[in-house]
Amino acid sequence: MTDLDQLDRPREACGVAGMWSLKGSGVEVARNLFFALYALQHRGQEAAGICTWDGKRLHVKKGQGLVSQVFREKRIKKLKGRSGIAHNRYSTTGGNDLANVQPFYLNTNDGTIAVAHNGNLTNARTLRRALEVGWTSTSDTEVIAQALARPLDDEERAGAPDWPGRLERLLREAQGAYSIVVQTPEGIYALRDPHGFRPLCLGVLKEEGRPQAWIAASESCALSPIGAEMVREVLPGEIVRLDDEGITTVRAPQPGLFEQTALCIFEYVYFARPDSRVDGQSVHVTRQRMGWRLAEEAKVEGDDVVVIGVPDSSLVSAMAYAARAELPYTEGLIKNRYIGRTFIEPSQAMRQNKVRLKFNAVRDNLEGKRVVLVDDSIVRGTTMEQLITLVREQGGAREVHVRVAAPPIKHPCFMGVDLASHGELIAHEHDEDEIAAVVGADSLVYLSLEGLHAAVDEGAATAGGHCNACFSGKYPVDVRACLADEDQKHSLAGRALRIAEAV
Ligand code: SF4
Repeated sequence: MTDLDQLDRPREACGVAGMWSLKGSGVEVARNLFFALYALQHRGQEAAGICTWDGKRLHVKKGQGLVSQVFREKRIKKLKGRSGIAHNRYSTTGGNDLANVQPFYLNTNDGTIAVAHNGNLTNARTLRRALEVGWTSTSDTEVIAQALARPLDDEERAGAPDWPGRLERLLREAQGAYSIVVQTPEGIYALRDPHGFRPLCLGVLKEEGRPQAWIAASESCALSPIGAEMVREVLPGEIVRLDDEGITTVRAPQPGLFEQTALCIFEYVYFARPDSRVDGQSVHVTRQRMGWRLAEEAKVEGDDVVVIGVPDSSLVSAMAYAARAELPYTEGLIKNRYIGRTFIEPSQAMRQNKVRLKFNAVRDNLEGKRVVLVDDSIVRGTTMEQLITLVREQGGAREVHVRVAAPPIKHPCFMGVDLASHGELIAHEHDEDEIAAVVGADSLVYLSLEGLHAAVDEGAATAGGHCNACFSGKYPVDVRACLADEDQKHSLAGRALRIAEAV
């Protein structure tokens, strides 16, 4: 299968959701989770899965492809029960085969559990070795499920299993990024790692003002399609339970919480949907502020200038750039919104220029103009090069000035986002002028890191910090093992390491 939608863009690790409904409420949990996943499809398009719990047994359907390809009406009807969890996948850790598709489920000595995870454990290999069990997949979500299956040393074996205690132990042992939903017989648990890398919010579904069900979801955009309203976000390091009592904090965040938080700043740049709220603020408004600041830092002067954005994620920043720079904004690139995965292989020539399959330039708006092309990020630079060619050749632009509404991506992410390795990232070794020459732009300027932080911090609800490691190289967690893996995988870096060791 060929994915025509995924050009040279960062890829998010996953979207998760979990729902608990009141007995007799009539809420169709599987159907609601399906539509929540539908709204979270931007966070993962490789696979999807839903597990429901009917009080006695788990019902599972998962498969590769988009949510609409994996589920059919008949399947949804078979997913019985008044609670469940769901997952959209893009693979970072583990391959993209069926064995790695989530949710993961296990029959433990203390009942059946299922886990769905967004993020990446940076010490998954260490935890895997320590757990000493057989493995069915290469996914770090299975590591989480196995870690939860292990009873606590002092757990009262005669009584009920201490799921909150096991989750607390997970918070102590697991490093990296993890926003997780767990189905247990007693309720749905939702938690975020102590740094809060990935978002996770809570909502309630009401009928005539009375709660009928509670939901946890990666982003708030998953709530309104199912008629739920936002309650709040799960705090970094917090564990909550969704059950007949509503939403209960079973483990409060630790003191000094906001000194260590590191919410992924890229959620605002690219991943999160603009209609979501992250850390209490609108992603749309944050992207507007990025565009304003970009215009203040890197305005293009002169006549015959028009501003265009790369659909869809850059359009908000492009419009804001144009408004602040007092330049006309126009539609310059039209995206084929129905492009996605296809079983028909494009020809070699088509594959070499996927941008042409995805975008058309609007010649009437661009011909003879000096075009400011606003994008939210550049990874390898291959897509940008093709876009500029399209704007020049198909659109007839006289000049193309690239403005990027985020700083240069110089370092890989090990916290659940696929950004490419050091050697593949165009900004790792090239400055703005060199990148402009490589992609064929008349000029190219990025938003400064200070500008990005100012845009994000202005509306943040908490005093929490943000991870910006892909821009700054300052990782909030120990990533030495991940860097060593990267060195091994990439021969050039590996050779450099060996030379350094030999000296
Ligand atoms: S490295 Fe970049 S993409 Fe990864 S968590 Fe940090 S800010 Fe987000």
